[in-house]
Amino acid sequence: MLQDLAFGHLDNQYRDHTPQKGDVVVCIQGGSILIARDKNDVLTLPAFEQVEVWSEHWTHWHEQPFRYAFTMQDVRYFLWMGNAGEPGDPAFAYEAASTLRQVTSKHICFAAMTAWHIFCWYRDNKFCGRCGTATVHDGVERMMKCPNCGNMIFPRISPACIIALVDGDRLMLSKYANRNYTRYALLAGFVEIGETAEECVAREVMEEVGLKVKNVRYYGSQPWGIAGNLQIGYFCDLDGDDSVTLDENELASAEWFHRDDIPAKDDGISLTREMIRIFSEGKEPK
Ligand SMILES: [Zn+2]
Repeated sequence: MLQDLAFGHLDNQYRDHTPQKGDVVVCIQGGSILIARDKNDVLTLPAFEQVEVWSEHWTHWHEQPFRYAFTMQDVRYFLWMGNAGEPGDPAFAYEAASTLRQVTSKHICFAAMTAWHIFCWYRDNKFCGRCGTATVHDGVERMMKCPNCGNMIFPRISPACIIALVDGDRLMLSKYANRNYTRYALLAGFVEIGETAEECVAREVMEEVGLKVKNVRYYGSQPWGIAGNLQIGYFCDLDGDDSVTLDENELASAEWFHRDDIPAKDDGISLTREMIRIFSEGKEPK
């Protein structure tokens, strides 16, 4: 999966670092990330010494223009804390964050998606939601605090369940309605306030395809920063009747596929596709 890095790891402990030459800066403009893409589709993020020059005329909203995000494989990543402007190098261009998932530059994609998650949280918490005062950064941890009312705002992660619904040797694969992503997927949905992840699995399956489940069992999880999620994967068994009643607002299709006829390949990126592969190999938790 995307977060399974070939070497090193993501050290996301907050520190009040100042950027230096050789650090990387994630620059975001609207829904896009500044990136260079070579002829082999390998991605590069801009270095601090580049952004330092380009950003002379860029604006930022934060008390600091650069905010430390994390260290990955001994490289320090910073965020440009505003709507980034034009790069001074034609090799770089803004690309939609949603198109970044790719195997060629797996660690860059993971870094960009994780930085995106942190950036969106900063962008959306410039003001206290309780009293409306401008927030300030805490000195020791990743937290925005309100100097007026004392409100403490921590990074927010939304849990979402990825659901592999199994009936013996068959797996339910679906396609989303009204989305750019047109490949087969597993059923999925956000955990609602007041329910467990297992209850979310049963509710989503009932809502999306009108079926009952039993034997809900955990498989694994994946940070998915592009949507601000922690995706939590479960396998579950069909309980009773197998005829689908499709929620056409959510799904374009939902069909049963035999283990030997699974059309989706593992891309080494997503939990969804790993779970589909695991099922096709008969290795799902029983
Ligand atoms: Zn406040």
